Amino acid sequence: MPTISSDYKLVLTAHKPAGTQIKINREESLGGPTFVTMAGPCTVEDEKQMDEVARAVKRGGASVLRGGAFKPRSSPYSFQGLGKPGLQMLRAAADRYDLRVVTEIVSENQIDLIERYADILQVGARNMQNYELLKALGRATKPVLLKRGIAATIDEWLSAAEYILAGGNEQVILCERGIRTFATHSRFTLDLAAIPIVKKLSHLPVVVDPSHAAGNNNLVIPLALAAVMAGADGLLVEVHDNPSTAYCDAEQALTPMQFLELSSRMRDIACGTGRVIY
Ligand code: PEP
Ligand code: MN
Repeated sequence: MPTISSDYKLVLTAHKPAGTQIKINREESLGGPTFVTMAGPCTVEDEKQMDEVARAVKRGGASVLRGGAFKPRSSPYSFQGLGKPGLQMLRAAADRYDLRVVTEIVSENQIDLIERYADILQVGARNMQNYELLKALGRATKPVLLKRGIAATIDEWLSAAEYILAGGNEQVILCERGIRTFATHSRFTLDLAAIPIVKKLSHLPVVVDPSHAAGNNNLVIPLALAAVMAGADGLLVEVHDNPSTAYCDAEQALTPMQFLELSSRMRDIACGTGRVIY
């Protein structure tokens, strides 16, 4: 059973029983009646890639374009992201297709820069317990998507969110992206139970990232569909126009065709969840 810890209070349902809704665009809010899809490549690579992915995800009903310009890579020798030019490509592609932008922030020094280009600031799993970053994001003006750490309990995850709310920013989206277990046939284990648990404990919207949990594009669609049925408010999913050439997370990227298949299957099951999926 979930425990109500005194380590957090502002994130609790009792603090805001009506729930938090985060405005995405004129029609959609995260935490509202519409299921919000955020999709795009793991990392921004070039203008052509961003244009093709943005067009594809828009066609599949996404309302937010994802793409990392600052990548927290496990190895210092892996591609670290394009930085500011990447943010500019991401914003330009999103604007061409009337999409909003979510991108990762890895340091508190980047808040001003990233807020200029993004609509939602993503805190990655590796930074969920970077408390200086969380405190700084409490002073940010844009919503924060807070991923669950790979070995974080639900209490630790909610305590991390509490830092941002306590700092004055109430616009927080929780993102379940899989935790580390003894399972070896998927990259991580998607904790589906966390969705209804956190939705009961907290007023914050909950989205699911099936891509990093899966590590393999064959698993992404079933995990995404399970997340819809488990009551998630939205999805964060990796899509690449040509996964075989992706700079990072190639194995887990959906092709544009697979993304369209996912969108149509999500729409088919949405009626059972009481939500609208575009
Ligand atoms: C990402 O979204 O590309 C990412 C790095 O995810 P995570 O922080 O969940 O590993
Ligand atoms: Mn990735």
